[in-house]
Amino acid sequence: MVSTESEYEVQCPHCRKPFRAKVIAGSAERYRGFKCPHCRLFVPAERAVNGDGSTADSDAA
Ligand SMILES: [Zn+2]
Repeated sequence: MVSTESEYEVQCPHCRKPFRAKVIAGSAERYRGFKCPHCRLFVPAERAVNGDGSTADSDAA
């Protein structure tokens, strides 16, 4: 599970750059995530922690 205590390695789904960040604790589970330091996109934790999700459908956008 995602903890706000520790840092995670995240790859931004937008700019594809990896970064390490702590989870931003939102008011609800789905508001938890990371902020990409490169493009400042908010990356939901559920999308980030999977690494390069091999099972994911390719969203090439
Ligand atoms: Zn980014």
